[in-house]
Amino acid sequence: MTTRVRFAPSPTGDLHVGGLRTALYNVLFARKTGGRFILRIEDTDRERNVPGAVETIVRILEICGLDPDEGPHLGGDYAPYIQSERLEHYRRFAQQLLESGHAYPCFCTEEQLKIMREEQRSRGFVQGSDHLCRGLNDEQARERMLSERHVLRLSVPLDGDIVHNDLIWGDLTFPLTDIDDQVLVKSDGFPTYHLANVVDDHLMRISHVIRGEEWLPSVPKHLLLYRFLGWEPPQFAHLPLILNEKRQKLSKREGTGSVMAWLERGILPQALVNYVTLLGWHASDDRDFFAFADLVEAFDLTRVGKAGAVFDPVKLEWLSGEHIKSLTPEELAFHARPFLKGMEFEALLPERLQAPLEAVRQGLHRLDELPAKLLVFAHERPVPDEEARAWLASEAAAKALPPVLEAWRKMPQADAEALLGAVRDVGKATGIKGKDLWMPLRAALTGRVGGPELKVVLAHLGAEEVMNRLVTQIQGQGE
Ligand code: GLU
Repeated sequence: MTTRVRFAPSPTGDLHVGGLRTALYNVLFARKTGGRFILRIEDTDRERNVPGAVETIVRILEICGLDPDEGPHLGGDYAPYIQSERLEHYRRFAQQLLESGHAYPCFCTEEQLKIMREEQRSRGFVQGSDHLCRGLNDEQARERMLSERHVLRLSVPLDGDIVHNDLIWGDLTFPLTDIDDQVLVKSDGFPTYHLANVVDDHLMRISHVIRGEEWLPSVPKHLLLYRFLGWEPPQFAHLPLILNEKRQKLSKREGTGSVMAWLERGILPQALVNYVTLLGWHASDDRDFFAFADLVEAFDLTRVGKAGAVFDPVKLEWLSGEHIKSLTPEELAFHARPFLKGMEFEALLPERLQAPLEAVRQGLHRLDELPAKLLVFAHERPVPDEEARAWLASEAAAKALPPVLEAWRKMPQADAEALLGAVRDVGKATGIKGKDLWMPLRAALTGRVGGPELKVVLAHLGAEEVMNRLVTQIQGQGE
């Protein structure tokens, strides 16, 4: 049987790092086992739905190279893949549960439930239904259902255990007395997550449910539903929590938790995918750097741990730097372009962009560092910073710059190599050496004392422009 796994986000906003990891482990498992990866949108909690969230999720999966095989935007044999378009399935099985006595209508109002919960809490009971409505006879219940607002609840057996074997957590036993009579259908007629999720996993022939640890407490309810509906449950793997540096659950509100925010800051998607895979799993040889194909090769669900994984932004940035190093010049230009919006580089042909990019690639971790690093290549004249100003005002500058300008004036068409050769000759002739020779020149041409190789800057700007810059600086000093 082919494996079938799914990523089943609720469209409640931006995709969280934890969501990306769930999607990723599902994809890796599917690719590794030759199975199918399905995207299903769980939007039955209507108040929490955020417009545009589905499109964002689809886009992020695409950017990260985690394309589903079936999904709302793709169709497939088990369509539709959006729960709000599948309501008749949930109605049908809710009816079946009602008729077989595994679900019952509950007419309690919010107010009554609140009082009951307080009372239960004071007596140290599990919070949930007090089975008040469970005792109603069928006839009474059916009659009230016609006219009164009600929900449908799961009729949880009053004693016994549910034994669950998790691919990550091993054997777990849940006493049924700890489990409340879960609402399956809300008073608006929409199913809750629990009913819709189980029905769809069954109908879509999901073989493995790989999802976050926060769903582990729901497993006994889900297994009861499988049992009551006469279905074989899938296998389950619950992924460990992702924690922040304070070892608290990484929340959706924290900036570091947002996938989009990282992509917008110029962390390479392949680096994010690489890093997020390491949150809960590590390779048998403890390697850190992985291209996607190597992840598929190395990934093993049974090596996923139970301990919470700490999200470390420093390591993510380091890995992003490693991935940036491994890009071809063409790939670097492709990834860089969106970060050059509004700069003159945006208009450059790829081949003209490559040399400046190559010159700043070393030490780059995020692509949003590019505008600042590329500034030395801009035709707009740089304003010298403090260190550059100090060099420009130095005695060394007064000695070195005029003879360089004089030499350059005699070679207006020269290329970068020839221009640099002339500087070296000036050094030899005047005895000005090292920093005293090069720093004033760099400061005059780029307005900075650090930065990429001067040769690349000269090649990019051209002889005329560099000469003009030198003239401006020398004249500026003379004023
Ligand atoms: N809709 C649930 C979520 O938002 C899916 C949980 C599951 O995978 O069963 O995470």
